[in-house]
Amino acid sequence: MRALMCSMLCLLWASLAPAAWALPLPVAEIAPGVFVHQGVHEEFGEHYHGDIANIGFVIGHSAVAVIDTGGSYAVGSALREAIRQRTDLPIRYVINTHVHSDHIFGNAAFESDHPEFFGHHQLPRAMQLRAETYTTNIVTMLGDAAKGSRIVLPTQLVHAQTRIDLGGRQLLLRAWPIAHTDHDLTVEDEASATLWLGDLLFVERTPSIDGDIHGWLKLISPLSALPARQTVPGHGPVTADKNALLEKQRHYLQTLLDDLRSSIKKGEPMSAAIDAAAQSEKRQWALFDNVNRRNATLLYPVLEWE
Ligand SMILES: [Zn+2]
Repeated sequence: MRALMCSMLCLLWASLAPAAWALPLPVAEIAPGVFVHQGVHEEFGEHYHGDIANIGFVIGHSAVAVIDTGGSYAVGSALREAIRQRTDLPIRYVINTHVHSDHIFGNAAFESDHPEFFGHHQLPRAMQLRAETYTTNIVTMLGDAAKGSRIVLPTQLVHAQTRIDLGGRQLLLRAWPIAHTDHDLTVEDEASATLWLGDLLFVERTPSIDGDIHGWLKLISPLSALPARQTVPGHGPVTADKNALLEKQRHYLQTLLDDLRSSIKKGEPMSAAIDAAAQSEKRQWALFDNVNRRNATLLYPVLEWE
């Protein structure tokens, strides 16, 4: 009986393990030729399996562009399979919205296609600075399922704006000043009015700050002004209501900033300030406790010297 239970559990485990993921990756066609895979809301850590960010691709008449590649070689390969199920056109472009490992570790799965890898002009620096830590961390987190995951640097850098041509449709890539990170890149597919904001927009999942909160708050208005029929955030569902969600995100960032400043002004100790920061936002967001605490911990020492 015990042996039977064990083999049933092992089978169940195998069916859930990343190595046993069904290929190709499930994607939704959100506009003609525009495909998105939505990652799940999980933390990095114990149950992390490399598939938490939104990734996808756009098919033109002559080429395919990939926008973010997922958190491991396995996820990137599964995304590549999803492309190959739909078209034999060459995968000529791989675009990274920013350095975070859940968005870029699938890059290596596309190297055999010899695409141009596009990123913000500050992305190579960010990748080089983090390469060692990220490479160690992914093996710790994913074990065997990290196999093949490597940092692949961009071959084409975006300074302000760059257009790429997929045949019959162009993508507009924009490099932004410091916000979520110091190298955020957005992508607009003009044919379908689809806007990819990367982690400049978090939907449902608590926004995490790795750049500058003031810079990010400043971008809410120009990002709101961008035309979009539908917007793909870095995390959470695709939305037709970008501006309301940017406003919700602005509210979180501003509350966090205001609460920390007011604690510092009252002379509260750091631990109390961090415990209290943005608690009024708690029910609005997924994974709030960990991400918000990390944000507050990073911000407090900076704000203390304002
Ligand atoms: Zn990110």
